[in-house]
Amino acid sequence: MDNIKTVLLVDDDIIVLNMLIEHLANNLKNINILTSNNSKDALKYLLNKDLVIHAAVIDYRLPDCVDGYIIEYCIKKDIPTVVLTGTMNEHTRKTVIKKDIVDIIVKNDSKSFITTSKTIDRILKNYDNNVLIVDDSKIQLKIIHDILKRMKLNITLATDGDTALRFIEDHPKKFSLLLTDYHMPKMNGMELTMKIREKYDKDELSIIVLSANKEEDIPTQFLKIGANDFLHKPYSQLEVITRVNSNLHILELFEQTRDMANKDFMTGSYNRRYFFESGESLFDKAKRKKEDLCVAMFDIDKFKNINDTYGHDVGDIAIQEMANVLNKHFRKSDLIARFGGEEFCVLLENISLDDSKILFEKIRAYFENNSIQINSKDINYTVSIGVFYGLDNNLEEMIKKADEGLYICKNNGRNQVSISS
Ligand code: GH3
Ligand code: MG
Ligand code: MG
Repeated sequence: MDNIKTVLLVDDDIIVLNMLIEHLANNLKNINILTSNNSKDALKYLLNKDLVIHAAVIDYRLPDCVDGYIIEYCIKKDIPTVVLTGTMNEHTRKTVIKKDIVDIIVKNDSKSFITTSKTIDRILKNYDNNVLIVDDSKIQLKIIHDILKRMKLNITLATDGDTALRFIEDHPKKFSLLLTDYHMPKMNGMELTMKIREKYDKDELSIIVLSANKEEDIPTQFLKIGANDFLHKPYSQLEVITRVNSNLHILELFEQTRDMANKDFMTGSYNRRYFFESGESLFDKAKRKKEDLCVAMFDIDKFKNINDTYGHDVGDIAIQEMANVLNKHFRKSDLIARFGGEEFCVLLENISLDDSKILFEKIRAYFENNSIQINSKDINYTVSIGVFYGLDNNLEEMIKKADEGLYICKNNGRNQVSISS
């Protein structure tokens, strides 16, 4: 599997170590866990140049070394580190907080293991999250950049609002979070927030304002115009980290809710309802611009045979494979949806009739030559593809014509493409 992340866990208490393993393994996907109950073995991992460690959970007090020794090593290697301590007295807290760590957690009950696993989950997800920071002060930019870099976020910097706005518009959906200063020449943080909110909602792009402004009603004003959060300068590192993490977490919850409504659980493809919702606006746009669209209906041939021969579970895998193959062959801007059973519908824009002929023939041939290995058996299937190219009165009509094409394919012996325009 791709995108596996490695986490190092170090604690001399075997019970604690096992609790950590259990929580991480149960709650996090795609992770590789390394463990050690002493500093010597932990160092072996850390000194291994071929090993990339994406996050670490380290006990502050290990019996075979000076307090915090392994933590220093992790920080030197730029590994985001969560520190575990048995007790949090003022001295420990102050010494640890001075270090560039991501979090400090007292291991007193099972809750602390849940917190640890959530923090690690957050860090690992950050590797794929893009954040934009805008501040007219280069010094301020550097401070906040360094903090967020430690959390492994991907960072883009801007020194004025116009540039920030351009970055966002040039890369729609890229950024999940914007951190902005309030007072900036030309466009200030408030104007920037308002401009962004004309196009992007609070649940798709989170905005956190950082300001030294002491006026009492400024945070409220920002929240009213659509900022998600407000932080007073000067801020502590851990405060920024905690706020950023919690805002990213909320965004993910929104995304999960959207996915539950718009996507098919089994394949992760969009559902019929979303296809029409999103497809109608593509259709309206094409009509305005007098551009052609292409609608294709895909259906697995004799799919009942797969279910009957290998069982329903294998049938499910065959459908999932179909979704993967379609995702591989179409562009991000193409709309792919599972209409039901083993039937998918795809809507494409910006493609010529000739190119669509080539593309669909290529996909048909791909299925013909493709086989999936399940329980050491090779499973093959072909697909039929009905296509309509052009613009009709409405989307439903276009789908109906693609469906008629599909019917022709099935009657003519399957494993073929039928295009009408
Ligand atoms: P044709 O070549 O004419 O398309 O034949 P077919 O057997 O593929 O067509 P038909 O539409 O008659 O059969 C589709 C079958 O797909 C019927 C249904 O039991 C099965 N099916 C529908 N949804 C699922 C699903 O989610 N998983 C599995 N495994 N089977 C499903
Ligand atoms: Mg400023
Ligand atoms: Mg079928």
